[in-house]
Amino acid sequence: MNTYDVAVIGSGPGGYVAAIRCAQLGMKTAIIEKYITLGGTCLNVGCIPSKALLDSSHHYHDAIKHFEEHGIEISGAVKMNLEKMIDRKQKVVDTNTAGVKYLMDKNKIAVFEGIGSFVDATHINIAKTNPEATDEQIEAKNIIIATGSKPATLPFITLDKKRIITSTEALSLTEIPKHMVVIGGGVIGLELGQVYSRLGAQVSVIEYMDRIIPTMDASLSKELQKVLKKQGVKFYTKHKVTAVKTSAKEVTITADDKKGNPVEFKGDYCLVSVGRRPYTEGLALDKAGVKANDKGQIEVNDHLQTNVGNIYAIGDVIKGAMLAHKAEEEGVFVAETLVGQKPHIDYNLIPGVVYTWPEVAAVGKTEEELKEAGVEYKSGQFPMRALGRSRASGDIDGFVKILADANTDEVLGVHMCGARVADLIAEAVVAMEFRASAEDIARISHAHPTYAEAVKEAALAATDKRSIHS
Ligand code: FAD
Ligand code: NAD
Repeated sequence: MNTYDVAVIGSGPGGYVAAIRCAQLGMKTAIIEKYITLGGTCLNVGCIPSKALLDSSHHYHDAIKHFEEHGIEISGAVKMNLEKMIDRKQKVVDTNTAGVKYLMDKNKIAVFEGIGSFVDATHINIAKTNPEATDEQIEAKNIIIATGSKPATLPFITLDKKRIITSTEALSLTEIPKHMVVIGGGVIGLELGQVYSRLGAQVSVIEYMDRIIPTMDASLSKELQKVLKKQGVKFYTKHKVTAVKTSAKEVTITADDKKGNPVEFKGDYCLVSVGRRPYTEGLALDKAGVKANDKGQIEVNDHLQTNVGNIYAIGDVIKGAMLAHKAEEEGVFVAETLVGQKPHIDYNLIPGVVYTWPEVAAVGKTEEELKEAGVEYKSGQFPMRALGRSRASGDIDGFVKILADANTDEVLGVHMCGARVADLIAEAVVAMEFRASAEDIARISHAHPTYAEAVKEAALAATDKRSIHS
């Protein structure tokens, strides 16, 4: 039987990064993945394909809505070829997943294809999906569970995956919906909603809470909803979906509106995006004695160790934000813990991003959280429209808001909406990792003209209301 220092179950961003770091640190490492391609949700049906479609649909939208104002005239109609767009997305996915396979080989990590399940706390059975292949067993001193998550649904919804779909199907549609009804105004609903809205679908978003992206700073919810509404997306907040029924070509969604009155929505597609749930089916956790909580998350301590000493868990399958970069940090954390290092993750400083256009990005505390905690804070905000760079490109929506401690000026939270803020947020993360004050950021030179100048200006505004350009 093959014996390893570490076996990782699941090859998403948590699992494959953990495996690479283990190998870098000299451990004999194996990774087990049930699908033929590596990379997990993120590379196959998550982060990467959704961004490929967001980018493609953005180009199309610009061509039909904005080229003219830049003096670019297209003779003849601009046509959408959805099949080609989806094919391109698949090529992007294939290149990325092949890249992970290359990295496994480069780091001499043994890759096993098949469903991993515990035989006991140190042995894993690998059940082959190919009926002609025989199962294998491996032994590992330490095991990292990185089996990720699957789309969640509501108890009364049957996902037929044709008309009532999850993000996975929405990434490979063969036609542009006439009317896509989205249940859940969170990250997936808004990103994929915007893709199909740009391609010409009517998109209606039904959200249970009183605002979209409800876990982010309320100012971001307001700004993004305003801009998406202008682009044609319809929003129904404070609506509670009670039933979803489908016929061959139509889906009927019933919801209770703000006043509790039933309202009906009819569409040709219904995207269910109400969150994701941890995925542990098939792992036989009981054989190793590993405990999960009532939400299905594997329970871990501060070292990301389960109740069984040599078994760790990371990423979407444990508590915390379901984000690829959070899973990656945890993968590195466990690998370094295994060789006796003392790694650290500051969960407050894991940024969150929505890749709509304008983008939304944030790190640290929201105003709502600071108020609830009774922290005295000051706020500095700078509108994107006041930047030369924004006016040059025409991307004038959004703002940067910096929240700083009223007494010490330490930056406590940064909230952004606008062009390229998914990239700008890194500056805020670095500043907060070094416990910078708003004035520290304000005194740093930012290249002109860039969107990043909005960060400096918001910091000037937070310091003592002395932004230069507003
Ligand atoms: P996963 O990526 O889910 O990987 C788990 C892997 O384990 C899978 O490949 C699975 O097949 C395998 N597995 C499960 N059980 C077994 C078993 N028993 N044996 C063998 N293999 C097994 N996050 C971001 O940070 N940025 C984004 O832009 C972003 N966009 C997203 C867009 C969409 C549409 C979706 C759905 C998600 C998106 N996410 C994004 C979230 C991100 O994909 C997840 O947070 C991330 O993939 C979690 O990584 P993970 O390693 O924990 O698990
Ligand atoms: P989410 O948690 O972001 O949003 C779900 C939304 O559905 C929430 O606004 C919630 O209030 C709403 N909701 C829940 N029950 C409802 C109901 N009965 N009726 C109406 N609305 C309801 O979840 P998601 O958008 O499905 O995404 C799943 C996970 O994937 C998220 O945790 C996210 O972190 C991750 N993801 C991240 C990115 C990114 O980083 N850009 C992109 C896509 C997905």
